[in-house]
Amino acid sequence: MQIPGRALVFLALGAVLSAAPADTPPQVAVATAETAFLDYLDAVGAVGFIESGGAKSFGGRDLAAWTMRLDAQRKRFDAAMSRIEPGTIDDADRDALAAMRRSVTDLAADDTTAGVPIRTCADAQRRDLDYSSLRAALVSCYVEHGNRLRYDGGTIDRGTALQLLHVVDDSVGRKAIFDAFGPLWTALNGRGEADSPYRRMIAMAADDARENGSQIDAAARAIGVQTTDVEHWLVQVLTAWRDANPADPIEPWDFRYRNGAANRELQVRIPAAALLPVNQRFYRDLGADLAQLGVVFDLAPRRDKSPLAYSDFLVRGRTVQEKWHRPIARVLGTYPAGGLFSLNELVHENGHAVHVSAIRTRPAFMDWPDTLFTEAFADVPSWSVHEPAWQQQYLGTAVAEAASMRALFANVMLDVAWSLFELRMLRDPALDPNAVWTDITHEYLRVVPHPEVPWWAMRVQLAGNPGYMVNYGLGALLTAEMRARTAAEIGSFDTGNPRWYAWLSGQLLQYGSQRDTQQLMQDLLGRPLSADALLEQVKRCGAQNP
Ligand SMILES: [Zn+2]
Repeated sequence: MQIPGRALVFLALGAVLSAAPADTPPQVAVATAETAFLDYLDAVGAVGFIESGGAKSFGGRDLAAWTMRLDAQRKRFDAAMSRIEPGTIDDADRDALAAMRRSVTDLAADDTTAGVPIRTCADAQRRDLDYSSLRAALVSCYVEHGNRLRYDGGTIDRGTALQLLHVVDDSVGRKAIFDAFGPLWTALNGRGEADSPYRRMIAMAADDARENGSQIDAAARAIGVQTTDVEHWLVQVLTAWRDANPADPIEPWDFRYRNGAANRELQVRIPAAALLPVNQRFYRDLGADLAQLGVVFDLAPRRDKSPLAYSDFLVRGRTVQEKWHRPIARVLGTYPAGGLFSLNELVHENGHAVHVSAIRTRPAFMDWPDTLFTEAFADVPSWSVHEPAWQQQYLGTAVAEAASMRALFANVMLDVAWSLFELRMLRDPALDPNAVWTDITHEYLRVVPHPEVPWWAMRVQLAGNPGYMVNYGLGALLTAEMRARTAAEIGSFDTGNPRWYAWLSGQLLQYGSQRDTQQLMQDLLGRPLSADALLEQVKRCGAQNP
């Protein structure tokens, strides 16, 4: 591995440049701040990697050493920023400084445990916790309960339970898996009382949103529309799903199964051991060789591992002695069971990884763009695994188009439903979440009402990052648009396309945080965003209703 050595070279270089004196020319002062910014972010990346349990040390340093370095680099960055005189710099530098400030603020906001003691799920019962502490406590519930659901004489994690809900043939067994979520649901929603931990948290989230805007407001702003427009789109998409599907009522524990024929048919073709190799083949065929890009994987099961799969920067990209060193991404996930659902998720995570690797811009923009765009892009490759042509090529067999589309969009529709749920809860946190969820799922997904069961509480984002689900739900519109436009420009990519990575890097990925979602999508489409591309795809679910 060459990463540790590279990281050290970067840090040493950063230390030299950051020592620039105060009376340096403005461009040099900005460049110094940008280098300090990269050094800081690299320390953040290393600390995140070690804290996640992915390694005991990185680049020859352990957690304590990296944490010290992180603090020192942050001070160096702040000092470098304070030495820049605003009146002396041009517009481009002003944008660069604003982007760096945004990145640093977002990092602080993301970290629900920053400056607060480690929270346990039991802490969620306390009435004296502030907003971030309560969220941290609720996220702990997903670790404490979600990683240990009691089922079939043993324990399974939440992701495995969701995967099994697609494939377990016996309805009683599916109900048992569903019921295994009980302790987690109770931890969040109590007995449905008005001051349950979740309802206290969502009230604080709504207060926070009134002051700072919610994630949903941010997503709307990112594409230049109002939050009410977002709600209209979400409802439109859910209505299209309802109209494309049979009218029979579905029990909530049967929803994934009923729409999961493709998962079951493909189950034996996707053992856990095949997930990574299939990903590697697909991405190689897209011109994005994961090994060549140096993506670091942490896929082994581990107690107390993050309940959520994610990808992140491990090392930021930078030019060293006129040679470009691309960013290095890491991917964390746990996939003991294999299957189509897990495959889709790992292709999504690798979508983030190749996005990271493609960013090639000045240091100030060496970060993710808007979350909405980021999540939507990761689904551009992951939706391909539901295309019969993809399955034939990479699994050696294919399921019928309508069944496969339903397997994909059933999960998308749950994300859309959660987006609408959060939008309505944040608008009126006094509502009963069970009632809001029951209304949405009954109306559009034809799910039998169970208003006594808080089965909305399956996603950790609902507790840790309220409003976040819209990045998936609304993101589906962007994904459908990006997939359609890409195929129109360079041809189909469901069975690989060597132009894919270079073309998308040039169009969308290389800019890092420099361009917002609205600009990226406008440049790609040449028009404002619309729901039509997604609505077209949802129709494919009804091509034949078996
Ligand atoms: Zn993602």
